[in-house]
Amino acid sequence: MAMLEVKNLSISYGAIEAVKNVSFEVNEGEVVTLIGANGAGKTSILRTISGLVRASEGEIMYVGNDISKTPARKIVADGLAQVPEGRHVFPGLTVMENLEMGAYLKTNKEENAANLKKVFERFPRLEERKGQDAATLSGGEQQMLAMGRALMSQPKLLLLDEPSMGLAPIFIQEIFDIIQDIQKQGTTVLLIEQNANKALAIADRGYVLETGKIVLSGTGKELLESDEVRKAYLGG
Ligand code: ATP
Repeated sequence: MAMLEVKNLSISYGAIEAVKNVSFEVNEGEVVTLIGANGAGKTSILRTISGLVRASEGEIMYVGNDISKTPARKIVADGLAQVPEGRHVFPGLTVMENLEMGAYLKTNKEENAANLKKVFERFPRLEERKGQDAATLSGGEQQMLAMGRALMSQPKLLLLDEPSMGLAPIFIQEIFDIIQDIQKQGTTVLLIEQNANKALAIADRGYVLETGKIVLSGTGKELLESDEVRKAYLGG
């Protein structure tokens, strides 16, 4: 059984149909990427999975249950966490307070302490800066904080929306290394990216989205080597 199965999903904003009849799946333990140009519908799909936007049609099966009408809060509690595009750390709160917000549904103090320890092991930079206002972190550090905050909820499935966006090359590589590390530790990942090259290089499988429709799918390697993907997304 797939961990996440999106079936015939359509998403509309008023008269605009942003996503049309999209189906894909994510199996336990995989990193799956959805790639596509600006406006292809990637963020809409992610926000619909996490319950922030409602589908106009289709089903979203998560560990066997349709969550397309489930409240977002319950979806997080069931182990699905999203790191939104543009990071959205809480300004005015310290790094530590931001991380604590990620665990707001978890009441077990020992578990929270253990999760915090793991997050600090993975992101030593966050521990060094735990008392700093999150708004004053660099872009790369904010991305790490947003990922660390999501990991505080101990997700089974982590949804990442363009984690490399706007980051310096050195941070970009680090973020992709961290995603692989998160997978190795047993978290399944659905990754949305415009950086097709990097995303496909670490993905088990991928789907290419064009104006709201899936036009190609395959293993990360197959897509990296496909002429269509090379021409459209990897500069020839
Ligand atoms: P990007 O890579 O630029 O973030 P994307 O692939 O994530 O793009 P979406 O953000 O899902 O694409 O947008 C898909 C389409 O839906 C776009 O045409 C966008 O303008 C439209 N759209 C998204 N959100 C809304 C909204 N709240 N109201 C109206 N239209 C919207």
